[in-house]
Amino acid sequence: MDLEAELAAARALDVAAIADAIESIGFECTRCGHCCRGTDEADHTATVFPDEIRTIQDGDEYDWRDVARPMPFGLTEPDDGPATGETFEWALATDACGDCTFYDREGEACSIYERRPLICRTYPFSLAIEDDGAELSAPMGEVVDREGAVQAHECEGLGRDISRADAIELAETLKRRAVRELQEAIGVRDNYEPTDIDGIVVHDSEGQKRPDGTRIRE
Ligand code: SF4
Repeated sequence: MDLEAELAAARALDVAAIADAIESIGFECTRCGHCCRGTDEADHTATVFPDEIRTIQDGDEYDWRDVARPMPFGLTEPDDGPATGETFEWALATDACGDCTFYDREGEACSIYERRPLICRTYPFSLAIEDDGAELSAPMGEVVDREGAVQAHECEGLGRDISRADAIELAETLKRRAVRELQEAIGVRDNYEPTDIDGIVVHDSEGQKRPDGTRIRE
């Protein structure tokens, strides 16, 4: 299935059926903060799309780099020099502990809750439009359960009762995320150009960018 077909399939998803699957799996956030923190093995890595970065920036409250870092996959980080290479998309910025920079450990809360990206709004679920299809924003945790197209990733809140209203709201957001990530994947594909530029180049749906979010070519 090509990306356009996956996008059409995502748009045709039945919200009620997604909600049924979420209800069957069960979920309630325990506010453990696990999905906002890094692990001993890896820094927190969650995809954030360009428009979501600008929403979090909220005008000039944050610089681009305060919000996002180049997705680390594909980059080379030598001990004796700056990182180089090409990568696709952006990850939420991390602090010195490898946690999401917006996670408030003391308050055990997200400091940008109302502006958090779709991947955070829908954790611990994702949708598999097809088994090996585009998955630009898969959450960090392993898939531990699946009902139809709904996948559940590692989370201590799984298996808890969820109201129908909350399941519907989560299902709608999950569908919105699936459509949005496929639109993004199509934009990345259509705007991709090979580059021989030094340093780090990030390819997103808007073209090639520097790590500070500025465009390399207009
Ligand atoms: S943006 Fe908020 S919800 Fe998302 S990972 Fe960071 S602290 Fe957690």
